[in-house]
Amino acid sequence: MRRLSLFLACVALLASALPARAEPLKVVATFSILGDLVRNVGGKAVEVTTLVGPDSDAHVYSPTPADAKKIADAKLIVVNGLGFEGWLPRLVQSSGSRATIVTASNGITPLRLGTDADPHAWQSVNNVKIYVANISAALASADPAAADQFMANTQAYLAKLDALDREVRDAVAKLPPNRRKVISTHNAFGYFAAAYGIEFVAPLGVSTESEPSARDLAKIITQIRQAKIPAVFLENITDPRLMQRISAETGARVGGTLYSDGLTGEKGDAPTYIDMVRHNIKALTRALGD
Ligand code: ZN
Repeated sequence: MRRLSLFLACVALLASALPARAEPLKVVATFSILGDLVRNVGGKAVEVTTLVGPDSDAHVYSPTPADAKKIADAKLIVVNGLGFEGWLPRLVQSSGSRATIVTASNGITPLRLGTDADPHAWQSVNNVKIYVANISAALASADPAAADQFMANTQAYLAKLDALDREVRDAVAKLPPNRRKVISTHNAFGYFAAAYGIEFVAPLGVSTESEPSARDLAKIITQIRQAKIPAVFLENITDPRLMQRISAETGARVGGTLYSDGLTGEKGDAPTYIDMVRHNIKALTRALGD
């Protein structure tokens, strides 16, 4: 009996001396880009779940019952803020979650999109460095035992973002100044335009939802000619004949896909944030170069 209690005392002593192998910190990110940032900062010490997955649109998202469960289990919920996740407050409330909500965009200078704040702040790499600092601080306060690891991951990732920012600036600097202009139905590149000096012109009178009519097309062609726009990124025009006509009548190059609000799956062109920015800058420089 005495031996057993000695054994139990030793076990208790060992258990108190050795930190228990920690469970990964459960974090929910609202959309794929934030999920990637949290993974880079958290590494193995976090288990990240993303609500709006790759190739989906966070603006018009409808949460599912499974999302409420994910949120209920999470210790932290990382959101973009700036009005991007209008569907989130009700989801958090209905899930009964007591998770801490971390607004990744805290501290950035918001631009406007019409009368509202423009939520697409991640299109400037320097803003994403602020996102990463906010995420890092939140993870460290939720799991202080892993704080050193988070700090090391953060430093390594910030160095990659610095290099990425330089890469974008160098690529734009090589473009002739009068060619730093595209026409695009995307309204998501305001921060990119402000940070890097490529102008995104909205096509006049064209809905982002539907294919343009013949009259719309004539207006776009006039606009491209008058504003001397060298490239078009009009992804809502899915009919290749329309794009060929615009290109033939204006001389503008037809650009490829620009990713704005979400990453692709693993096998796509933009499975990570860094891949997304690289993909976009390649598509833009291919269309705008000499
Ligand atoms: Zn958007």
